[in-house]
Amino acid sequence: MTYRGRFAPSPTGHLHFGSLVAAVGSWLCARHAGGTWLVRVEDIDPPREMPGSAESILAALPAFGLTADARPLFQSSRIAAYDDAFEQLKANGQVFPCWCSRNDLAGGLHLDGQCLAPPAPDRVPAWRLHVPDREIRFDDALQGPQTQNLRLTAGDFVIRRVEGYYAYQLACVVDDAFQGITQVVRGNDLLDSTARQIYLQRCLGLPEPGYLHLPLALDANGRKLSKSEQARPVDPTDPLPALRRALHFLDLPVTTHATTPQALLAEALAVFDPALLPRCSERMAA
Ligand code: GLU
Repeated sequence: MTYRGRFAPSPTGHLHFGSLVAAVGSWLCARHAGGTWLVRVEDIDPPREMPGSAESILAALPAFGLTADARPLFQSSRIAAYDDAFEQLKANGQVFPCWCSRNDLAGGLHLDGQCLAPPAPDRVPAWRLHVPDREIRFDDALQGPQTQNLRLTAGDFVIRRVEGYYAYQLACVVDDAFQGITQVVRGNDLLDSTARQIYLQRCLGLPEPGYLHLPLALDANGRKLSKSEQARPVDPTDPLPALRRALHFLDLPVTTHATTPQALLAEALAVFDPALLPRCSERMAA
């Protein structure tokens, strides 16, 4: 099977160091395997999106030497496919409407395939996937063997929100299958989503890709970089410094001779081996 990888940014801001690491890491894995690298814009959550962000990210990637093998896929154009997946889950009796508020559930109440609040026909419900009390196991190519019991961790989770938007988990698995992704390489903040995604793949009869979660970039205070001050955008008009930092973050030796991002990436690719990526869950961004 030929390798197909992807970078799937949400257009909630400009490309920042953490997302550059995910883009570079997924690009290196795909190119190392002689495979295809795709970009998917996860624009299905309008309230969280920043106008101009998708254009800004898509323009920044080639400036960092990261050129995709096809035009980007926009999730906003894929709603019919999510509707089909949702109808399939509904027909199989795997989802249920839920009117519970966050407050209803905050007290530690557990759903078990049905809503605890009285049905409110005048209000649109969220739809939740009923999860079994069973362990989901997978082997992350970097973080090692993982086990998660969804009943205990996520519970019956929302796949379609009250506002009618599909949840990231559903859209992600439908599109990873649609794009034929064989390995998902992304930041370790999403390790926790993987069991939910694998369970959804099983419910929908979709293939299960491999997973590789890169260490999460932290700021000097140990906070997730994307949530902190240092989430300043990386500068596509001066790509070499941030690209060097991203490669250094992934433990790749980089020389100072390269004068273009393409040359720097080519140097990194020549010595790249996924087995030598840092095996930690998080690390400080230099
Ligand atoms: N869109 C997600 C994000 O920007 C990443 C999704 C993924 O790689 O699965 O955090």
